[in-house]
Amino acid sequence: MLKDIFMGLSQNQFLNNAAKKYGLKMGAQSVVAGTNIPEVIKSIKELNAQGISCTVDNLGEFVFKEEEATAAKEQILKVIEAINENQVDAHISLKPTQVGLDIDYSFCLNNVREIVHQASRYDMFVNIDMEDFKHLELTFNLLDELSMEFDNVGTVIQAYFHKASEYLERYKNFRIRIVKGAYKESAEIAYQDKKDIDANFIKLIEWHLLNGKYTSIATHDHRIINHVKEFVKENNIPNDQFEFQMLYGFRKDLQLSLASEGYHFCTYVPFGNDWYGYFMRRLAERPQNLNLVAKQVFNK
Ligand code: FAD
Repeated sequence: MLKDIFMGLSQNQFLNNAAKKYGLKMGAQSVVAGTNIPEVIKSIKELNAQGISCTVDNLGEFVFKEEEATAAKEQILKVIEAINENQVDAHISLKPTQVGLDIDYSFCLNNVREIVHQASRYDMFVNIDMEDFKHLELTFNLLDELSMEFDNVGTVIQAYFHKASEYLERYKNFRIRIVKGAYKESAEIAYQDKKDIDANFIKLIEWHLLNGKYTSIATHDHRIINHVKEFVKENNIPNDQFEFQMLYGFRKDLQLSLASEGYHFCTYVPFGNDWYGYFMRRLAERPQNLNLVAKQVFNK
């Protein structure tokens, strides 16, 4: 019920636009690493100092105008330059709809190509985040076309899809982030029950650890993380074959302890004014995240 309310709020374009004008509010500053490039570089440096690498997301969605998509692309290019100039340990995550997928496929492809090309000059990886099912095949098409020219690009497989194993097999030679899945999808195409999603998530992670290139296991679920730790030990999978990923601001102690145990750890670092949809989806996933909001409101 609460989940549906937050998912509905996350897609409200009026509130999305309003939030852009007012800076980080409602506790979003706990989970969004600033609104501009200097702020995000500072956050990355702090994480790097703790042995954690970063994937940087210039927040944005609901982009239906070419000039907005072009501005988002320009901003991502500036982030790439800033990562290189500051010599921080970070790469890029981007959402195809932010750089024009809802406007025109070729326009979007050209934008992502420019980003991947620029990143490739610095040997920097670009992850194409996976959005809702409506955009899934087009996102795979982007990856198919770009991987003919570049090898610094990969994507995300969402375990809630019935066909997730098929997708994973198709992209086993890529660096792949495996997640449970964040969007509301129908029962025809996606598991709805948490137990089924978790079981499929574990199955995909194990398969990719044994058969894939490099696996990014993105979850805050300590049960799954503990399972993976046992699995890699039993199967002699070296630490440089995989990493754990979590979102900025979540389970900070667990992030630090995994890094200090010697696992590769990468924090997903979102920044920018367009924080509202991202923040509402985090509340939908875990209404307890409202604690973060309460702490911010009352700690003033
Ligand atoms: P959940 O299923 O939310 O939680 C499982 C259990 O873990 C909880 O019951 C609780 O015991 C524990 N737990 C979880 N969070 C906390 C917390 N904050 N504090 C204490 N205990 C906690 N989704 C996409 O669809 N596309 C993407 O491209 C994408 N990229 C992602 C990148 C990263 C780095 C991460 C971490 C997630 C990404 N997601 C993406 C979101 C993902 O699909 C899930 O919606 C999200 O991670 C919630 O699932 P979970 O596995 O973290 O655990």
